[in-house]
Amino acid sequence: MSALVPRSDFSLLSTNPNLVYLDSAATAQKPRAVLDAMNDFYETDYANPHRGAYALSARATERYASARGAVARFFGVGDEACVIFTRGTTDSLNMVASAWGRANLGAGDEVIVTGAEHHANFVPWQQIAIERGAQFTICPLAADGRADVEALATLVSGRTKVIAFNHVSNVLGAINPVSEIVAIARAVGALTVCDGAQAAPHMFVAFDALGVDFYAASAHKMLGPMGTGVLIGRREVLDAMPPYQTGGDMIAFVGDERTTWNVLPHRLEAGTPNVAGAVGLAAACDYLTAIGMDAVAAHERALVRLAYERVSALDDVRVHGPSGSERSGVLSFTVGDIHPHDLATLLDERGICIRAGHHCAQPLMRRLGVAATARASFYIYNDENDVDQLAEALESAKRVFAVA
Ligand code: PLP
Repeated sequence: MSALVPRSDFSLLSTNPNLVYLDSAATAQKPRAVLDAMNDFYETDYANPHRGAYALSARATERYASARGAVARFFGVGDEACVIFTRGTTDSLNMVASAWGRANLGAGDEVIVTGAEHHANFVPWQQIAIERGAQFTICPLAADGRADVEALATLVSGRTKVIAFNHVSNVLGAINPVSEIVAIARAVGALTVCDGAQAAPHMFVAFDALGVDFYAASAHKMLGPMGTGVLIGRREVLDAMPPYQTGGDMIAFVGDERTTWNVLPHRLEAGTPNVAGAVGLAAACDYLTAIGMDAVAAHERALVRLAYERVSALDDVRVHGPSGSERSGVLSFTVGDIHPHDLATLLDERGICIRAGHHCAQPLMRRLGVAATARASFYIYNDENDVDQLAEALESAKRVFAVA
């Protein structure tokens, strides 16, 4: 199985031909098309958008607006103003927890998250629940790491105001049943907040059809630049949400005593925006669309299935999460008593990049009964040879540490 895109599209990969990059769940490499688009903005249309009355500023404004349009199309959002540019998934989720949470949560209300959340979709909800005197409830997981929807259905009540959950787990690759969770939330009038950081890069996400109220993603995990992301929301909930930050661009009128707010999306984007970031994200969306998200998903599933078979066949290896065919392109495992950090260091000596640690998911680590895991993650530039190299390196690591 060859890679889905030529390695030559990615400068870093083509100048390091022996590098086996298996850490795309942490951040993806950048195709030249993304870097060129960002450079082009700086070289041809760079100015501060929105406020300028001159042509160059108007062109910068236009680049920003058309980036929003491209991102909206990629995420299946009909109303472009519902795409809010942020600094990334963490920023997006903090915006909802702070701005929506502070306005809508009170004593006796309940916030539910799953036990498999990244800290970015766990800690902000835990903290706002503490601040507002609301109950913070953790939904148990099914054996495969997805939210246990039967348990969730019994947990919710009229007091449940919001259910926050990942679309795809960054540790297990488990894909949550979004429509079932949305149905359970709607039955009690609760909002849904979906962390799409590990889904948006890897599968077609049609926000308008998904049914969730909020969806968050990071550009850097989907071939775009670091420091940019999106919060997508349904028009009614965004319109009702107070501003997250105040300052330039997000106001309509500033009086000495009171201020009125601009319309969406500006009301939720205070200050000079990251135009180059938005342009880069839009170029990444176009690059992925040209490949086709179904092809992206199929390629990764095939690779991860192969990796699952090869790695789980090794003695003393424990692979966490669902079976090979049911997961997105993430494989977390532990090898005997070898500390995942030692494993990652040993693999690095062979030019293989994997991640090791708690993956910003300490509550999940506790549920798995481990302190840390090693994680290999796959993307469009990986091929079967990468899987072979991973499996061989693990065999060799076991020999070095004399396991089994
Ligand atoms: N949510 C999930 C599932 C993630 O995997 C990550 C990053 O690894 C985040 C949230 C946070 O993303 P960022 O650091 O880009 O804000």
